[in-house]
Amino acid sequence: MAKRNKSPMPIIMIITLVVIGLVTAIVIISNSQTTRSGTAYDEQPPIEAQPTIGEEDAAVQVVEFGDYKCPSCKQWGDQVYPQLISDYVESGDVNFSFINVLFHGQESYIASLASEAVYSQNPDVYWDFHKEIFNQQPTDHNATWVTVDKMVEIASGIDGIDAEQLRTDIEDEIHADQVNQDNQLVQDYGVELTPSIMVNDVMVEDPFDYEAISELIEEELEGN
Ligand code: CA
Repeated sequence: MAKRNKSPMPIIMIITLVVIGLVTAIVIISNSQTTRSGTAYDEQPPIEAQPTIGEEDAAVQVVEFGDYKCPSCKQWGDQVYPQLISDYVESGDVNFSFINVLFHGQESYIASLASEAVYSQNPDVYWDFHKEIFNQQPTDHNATWVTVDKMVEIASGIDGIDAEQLRTDIEDEIHADQVNQDNQLVQDYGVELTPSIMVNDVMVEDPFDYEAISELIEEELEGN
């Protein structure tokens, strides 16, 4: 005799599935709120004219607003940058750009003019020059050390830079427009501290929190 199956099992299973679904949704929602540790802007900074390491069409762009005179920027370059490169840039998922900030006056300006000039002369050695300026930062942060002579001396130690041309470029402020464009981006994105790090359109709250940077990158990668 055919009977309706009155076993309560299917109902319990349905309820269980609904509960699991709700719990999963709550976990996903709460994760997306807690992992977005930064301030979102309408647009990510334009990097077409900026020195960029990594794949041009990488899914995620990371931008540093940095100042060659800033001790924290040197520290960030030594501690966080290498992890970012090995975890995400070498795999092609992320590209990284540097935008000059001029918070330390004339010395910041000279170093920015120099790095823009090197980028214009030979983009392939830009990052070597960039790194070497930070390497030359003295422990006495108040010392005056960024001079035209110092920039020429650093350039002389790197193959592929015409050091005397660099001297002329700095003295004649040939790349003032590029430095001013960077400064405009600093204003547009309300940069007040260096380094400031942006993952796509999000300004990271703490640039030294690599876990937060990594989470933001992963979120952006999932969204692509
Ligand atoms: Ca620039």
